[in-house]
Amino acid sequence: MKPLQSLTRPNIWKLKPYSSARDEYKGAAASVFLDANENPYNMPHNRYPDPMQHDLKAELSKIKKVPAENIFLGNGSDEAIDLLFRAFCEPRVDNVVAIDPTYGMYQVCADVNDIEYRKVLLDEHFQFSADQLLAATDEHTKLIFLCSPNNPTGNDLLRSEIEKLVRSFDGLVVVDEAYNDFSEAPSFLEELEKYPNIIVLQTFSKAWGCAAIRLGMAFASPEIIDILNKIKYPYNVNRLTQKQAMEMLSRYYEIERWVKTLKEERGLLEAEFAKLPCTVRLFPSDANFFLVCVTDAVAIYSYLVKKGIIVRNRHSVSLCGNCLRVTVGTRLENEMLLEAMREYRG
Ligand code: PMP
Repeated sequence: MKPLQSLTRPNIWKLKPYSSARDEYKGAAASVFLDANENPYNMPHNRYPDPMQHDLKAELSKIKKVPAENIFLGNGSDEAIDLLFRAFCEPRVDNVVAIDPTYGMYQVCADVNDIEYRKVLLDEHFQFSADQLLAATDEHTKLIFLCSPNNPTGNDLLRSEIEKLVRSFDGLVVVDEAYNDFSEAPSFLEELEKYPNIIVLQTFSKAWGCAAIRLGMAFASPEIIDILNKIKYPYNVNRLTQKQAMEMLSRYYEIERWVKTLKEERGLLEAEFAKLPCTVRLFPSDANFFLVCVTDAVAIYSYLVKKGIIVRNRHSVSLCGNCLRVTVGTRLENEMLLEAMREYRG
């Protein structure tokens, strides 16, 4: 890996971050807080939240078995994705490389930040080759984006290729594990110490059932985490979110049960989809959704909309012609979808 300084935008490396009132006074012993121009009434919402989310990181650290200094928390993992561009990529000079198809926000953030986005098409098994991704890089490539299990294809990327890429690339490799809880593959969190150039993204939006609270996690070396913390908005994770996340962390067993149920439901749904006359090909999934190639994705999508059932039409996405992406719902929701699909006459 190149020295972190040479991978970081010079203005960010030398940035003196904003220091908030709650950054400057961290002690809990005081009882009179007249430092942050808050309103003394309307407790507890009158107070700014902890800018570094200490309590939440301490709890997360226990569950994820990663020291708190290796954790960044943001307003969804989308915030972390955007901050990675802003921290490491010089507009109109640097570039990033990503697999294609994959999660759309990598490209949107690249475009917003005026960074060249280089796509490398997956193969027919939706896998990538480390050599091909490396061949797309040059001296201005700062980040490579991988997503495993990948969205919208649903499959885990080959671990051997991910490791090969991480070992051979001298920039940073982002492994987005938003759906890893639904997969049998171990998380790359276990490899954080081994690979100083890896950034693992996870989220409360999927297995944790908390898309509404907007809480995403980035795990990386403390040096990388410090850079993200330096450029984030001071109070990027609001108090209600921190509180709700703490509560979810204390109900860890419930999340495991949801994941188990959703994986079983995925199996049932896939088995039934395989029998449908309009199914052309089902793709194996390691996530809480699956991709299915159908006879006419546009027609079936509209047909389902008319029945009040919304799936994702991925017809116009690379390698996903005539594909629908189906999220696994409750047993009742899945049965309603299947019933509608069985009645479809194309
Ligand atoms: N990564 C992937 C692969 C996703 O599919 C999504 C959301 N669909 C996200 C990240 C964003 O997650 P968050 O809600 O944490 O911003």
